[in-house]
Amino acid sequence: MEDIIVVGCGFAGAVAARKLAEEKKKRVVILEKRSHIGGNMYDSEDINGILVHWYGPHIFHTESKRIFEYLRRFTEWVRYEHKVMGNIRGQLVPIPFNYSSLEDLFPEDNASDLKCRLSRTFPNKTRISILELLKSDDAEVKRFGRAVYDMVFVNYTAKQWGVPPEKIDSSVINRVPVVLGYDNKYFQDPIQYMPTNGFTRLFDNMISHPNINVEVNCDASKRIRLDRKRGRVYFDGKVWDRPIVYTGALDELMEYEFGALPYRSLDLVFERYKMNYYQLAAVVNYPNEEKFTRITEFKHFTCERASTETTILKEYPMDYDITAPKGNIPYYPIINEENLILYAKYRDALRRFGNIYPCGRLAEYRYYNMDAVVDRALSLCESLGIK
Ligand code: FAD
Ligand code: UDP
Repeated sequence: MEDIIVVGCGFAGAVAARKLAEEKKKRVVILEKRSHIGGNMYDSEDINGILVHWYGPHIFHTESKRIFEYLRRFTEWVRYEHKVMGNIRGQLVPIPFNYSSLEDLFPEDNASDLKCRLSRTFPNKTRISILELLKSDDAEVKRFGRAVYDMVFVNYTAKQWGVPPEKIDSSVINRVPVVLGYDNKYFQDPIQYMPTNGFTRLFDNMISHPNINVEVNCDASKRIRLDRKRGRVYFDGKVWDRPIVYTGALDELMEYEFGALPYRSLDLVFERYKMNYYQLAAVVNYPNEEKFTRITEFKHFTCERASTETTILKEYPMDYDITAPKGNIPYYPIINEENLILYAKYRDALRRFGNIYPCGRLAEYRYYNMDAVVDRALSLCESLGIK
């Protein structure tokens, strides 16, 4: 019999399972409802031999040497610096919006004046939040901020989240700054890599341990039952009093007791073209007219073998609805005050069950990047205090 159940085989589940199996010497079973491991990081080669991220583009980036050293144990990595362009009024400019974007989109005189004002207003700063720019005391800088907000942020955010930007926590928009200079890297983290043979290989190696058993096509909600009155957990009909690391959605686990937690989903549309490259950068954002938010061309990630075919992905944001044919994967928690209050109710109710530990993007309703999920899973398992 296993010592610990892990629900979900995304990064949160796989890292937790490995840590518990290897360091705590526990027998772990991972239950994964999809037909494969890797969660939203799952990738594999398509019919043209191009490594495709089937749930959207994933680039590993972190500040933490410790997290990267941990992951390096499981696969080879190749340096990769992520670049994004934005299609603004038909012109491709760097995103985050930087001085090159400014020069491309503003008249020359105006651009020089704005660069001077920006340096004067924000001395010693290389990046600034768009929301801070909008509050500037310098009228010209404020007007510039408004223009960038309108060109890059307003419509993209409304498309992505299905509500106006004011209804989304400012931390979401602040993930993408305005750059006061010519740096055109999308992420600021010093460590940026891609796994040479893909993320699925990383997962394969991570869960390949004699103490780990994985069951795919296994929906844990059909095997785990909660007796709310007694605060008791049942697994396959028997009382289960050992730990469960749970990485699915809490509302689903608790049978929507307080109503559904809102998530945002995506309709992911893949297209193949007979051409070497479709676009100039790995990702091109379409903030305005189009219904999709961005196009990813996978070949750019691994600087792949030139070939006559390429595969791209268009992301169409949509509401999450578990019963619908599309939009039935909860990709993004929608971070705002109302939703966090609802989530807190689930989290409080979960305390009735002393042996369920929520971990990861869904279970904690947090906009975690990959490195933060790894960190969280490692520290959770460290703190479990199991002997
Ligand atoms: P998930 O990957 O969602 O894994 C949860 C797993 O649990 C899933 O496999 C699910 O099927 C399973 N599960 C759920 N319920 C049950 C159940 N009842 N029974 C059994 N199994 C269940 N981060 C970055 O750092 N860089 C990026 O470039 C980046 N790009 C992203 C792009 C997109 C489109 C998205 C959506 C996210 C991106 N992320 C990125 C974030 C990254 O995907 C997450 O940080 C990471 O995947 C979270 O891992 P997780 O294990 O918490 O969740
Ligand atoms: N964003 C935007 N325009 C862009 C890129 C990002 O308005 O061209 C905003 C938008 O609100 C988005 C958020 O910044 O949801 C975070 O973007 P990020 O690229 O980090 O999103 P993710 O890769 O997680 O989808």
